[in-house]
Amino acid sequence: MRIILVQGDITERRADAIVNAANSSLLGGGGVDGAIHRRGGPEILAECRALRASAYPEGLPTGHAVATTAGRLQARWVIHTVGPVHSRSEDRSHLLASCYRASLGVAAELGAHTVAFPAISTGIYGWPLDDGARIALKTVRETPAPGVEEVSFVLFDATAYAEFDRAL
Ligand code: ADP
Repeated sequence: MRIILVQGDITERRADAIVNAANSSLLGGGGVDGAIHRRGGPEILAECRALRASAYPEGLPTGHAVATTAGRLQARWVIHTVGPVHSRSEDRSHLLASCYRASLGVAAELGAHTVAFPAISTGIYGWPLDDGARIALKTVRETPAPGVEEVSFVLFDATAYAEFDRAL
């Protein structure tokens, strides 16, 4: 599996699947989540609502992942995952790692060959970028994902890109 880093907006990424740093409601939010729903259009939200009404009445648990189609985005699928809120008193690294593992599992099941990730939890959820980058890269490297040939990390700004580059 090839791992690449790019700086930019994940909603513009041509990948079979792009990963959304969602919240457990699946009903939209700020950051990446807001951008994906804005650019992807109402279809994605309609599918998220259907998931809430069926498989996830209580919301998608932290560390889990689920796919919808991608509306007007270039991607075929959006894989929604819920990162942990960073805590100084509790180590939640396993939950952040779980987001990457679960998303790759869903991508492999879908038959995605290319997958794009944002830096999950490093925005509104407050995870320090250096640690978030380390966990992201280590987990993706260690997770077998049959059929996934390329994983790109799409970093929104130069600082995030630099932290991922250093961790890589
Ligand atoms: P979380 O709630 O998991 O922290 P955020 O969306 O707030 O999720 O932030 C996750 C990371 O995604 C942050 O590093 C943020 O700068 C970045 N980000 C925000 N918008 C985009 C975008 N359109 N494309 C790629 N990355 C983005």
